[in-house]
Amino acid sequence: MGLEMNIDLAGGNQSLPVFENTSQSDYQTERGLTMHNQNLSRRGFLLATGTACCSGAFTSSVSKGDTKGDTKNKKQFKKIDCHLHINHKGRSIEDTIKHMDATGTEKAFILPLETGEGGVVLRTETVLHAFHKHKDRLIPFCQTDIRKPDVIERIRAYHLLGCRGIGEQKEHLPLNDRRVEAVIALCDEFNWPITIHFQDNKTGFNQGIEQHLETYLKKYQHVRIIGHAQSFWSHISADVPSPEKTLYPTGPVKPGGLLDHLLSEYPNLYADMSAGSGFTAISRDENFSAGFLQRHRKQLLFGSDCPCYDGRGANFKGMCYSTRLQQFLQRMVKDESALRDIFYNNAERALNGTT
Ligand SMILES: [Zn+2]
Ligand SMILES: [Zn+2]
Repeated sequence: MGLEMNIDLAGGNQSLPVFENTSQSDYQTERGLTMHNQNLSRRGFLLATGTACCSGAFTSSVSKGDTKGDTKNKKQFKKIDCHLHINHKGRSIEDTIKHMDATGTEKAFILPLETGEGGVVLRTETVLHAFHKHKDRLIPFCQTDIRKPDVIERIRAYHLLGCRGIGEQKEHLPLNDRRVEAVIALCDEFNWPITIHFQDNKTGFNQGIEQHLETYLKKYQHVRIIGHAQSFWSHISADVPSPEKTLYPTGPVKPGGLLDHLLSEYPNLYADMSAGSGFTAISRDENFSAGFLQRHRKQLLFGSDCPCYDGRGANFKGMCYSTRLQQFLQRMVKDESALRDIFYNNAERALNGTT
């Protein structure tokens, strides 16, 4: 997010999760969460009754639900949150650290949003200041207005000051704009990751994932492109509705989607499962997801984009994106080495460019 804005407000798809309001937020209400989990349980029941099965250690087997009690007995894994801001809904740095403590998160990529085009402004300087107070917990990224003539000099300065990547890249420019390419090329030079918010509707960001992302993945093989947001995750399925109709497709996934193709072909692509977009996609068809999580276990990144401050949804109507995704992954992925990859190792590899 930063937030994921301009969601489908008029799509009329009654199976969509319920959103907080009709402004431009991706946040789901407590009611939306409850409804969603009921859907998951029903699918889990169908799977458990033998209508479907899936492979190996990755399982869609029925659970007693993604309840908080469930995780208490689960093994805890070291975690890096690949997508966190500081000041969502006015949260302080202290409360951001509190969120990390409460969700068992050792470190987090902290992503500025300097231009505020997604509705939140977080300056790179603020992130660097927080980093110097919490060096063992925060991994600072930078982001600045790529339409300004001094952008490359500014990012070179942020590199010297200790930033580790660019993101969240979220400005109203198409993906094939030369200014977007310039910062991807700079990340390639620095051996950095870049987190890109893909949102294909007219008022979205980095539009044209289907036409242009593969070109960059081929051309720039040092940079790790971390895909985030609605139009990235819509492509989990081969049938993608018009972004003007909905940015949050639900229901069964049609195999053969762009994400499966790109993640299989390009080890320099990572998938950020944070926010409503990541969770909606990965949970919409559990039978498909079991295989997807297995196939791409080395490129999937745990992340939250959560604005709450206590891991239980305080400040956010009782729902925490981090806790919700952790519970889902713990239920779906039974192979502990895969969970260690998804929760921690993949983020380190995306950060450092190691294999
Ligand atoms: Zn975000
Ligand atoms: Zn939270």
